[in-house]
Amino acid sequence: MLKVNEIYASIQGESTFAGLPCTFVRLTYCNLRCSYCDTEYAFYEGAEMPVEEIIKKVQQYGNNLVEITGGEPLVQPMSLNLMTELANRGYKVLLETGGSLPVEKVDPRVHIIMDIKTPYSKMEKKNRYENINFLKLTDEVKFVLGSQEDITWAIEKIHEFNLTNKCKVLFSPVFGTIKPVEIVDRIVQERLPVRFQLQLHKFIWPVEQKGV
Ligand code: SF4
Repeated sequence: MLKVNEIYASIQGESTFAGLPCTFVRLTYCNLRCSYCDTEYAFYEGAEMPVEEIIKKVQQYGNNLVEITGGEPLVQPMSLNLMTELANRGYKVLLETGGSLPVEKVDPRVHIIMDIKTPYSKMEKKNRYENINFLKLTDEVKFVLGSQEDITWAIEKIHEFNLTNKCKVLFSPVFGTIKPVEIVDRIVQERLPVRFQLQLHKFIWPVEQKGV
């Protein structure tokens, strides 16, 4: 059984898959409390569902792309089984994780999108940097940036862990906090081999809207 907050179809709003139709499985619980969290409703709310029932719902939406998100999906160990079962059925599975819990047992067919939490999040001490050793070239690390200091900090981490040679790297603004152009300017000026992204869904639907 897994505690599930919501299952819905939308377009992927982030990552290198942005813009594609995608089914989202949002699992309940998170072990972090980021300063900018926009999914606090997933901390506790949800209903217990067997893996087979979740897969049936995913099948009904008919998208080949499925993202397991939260909250923090890896709080529930059964999320590993869900991802494997979806991959077994031919789905392209994305995992969105906050980066504080081990990723080594995630099925290698799963595309991991892992945050490295910056100082602005107030959760940077929770980063599990060992996870970087288990990322594939096709996986993605995301820095959600809230200040100029965060950008400088992220650049240091990229160098320290040789990140851009290990996986894809995403820079994303904390919505409504830092101007996107401030991040873009630094990327251009410092010729950073990273991908800038915006949370598309926040420009398409009202910021507070769930299930999109
Ligand atoms: S990891 Fe994600 S869900 Fe958890 S507190 Fe941070 S932003 Fe919210």
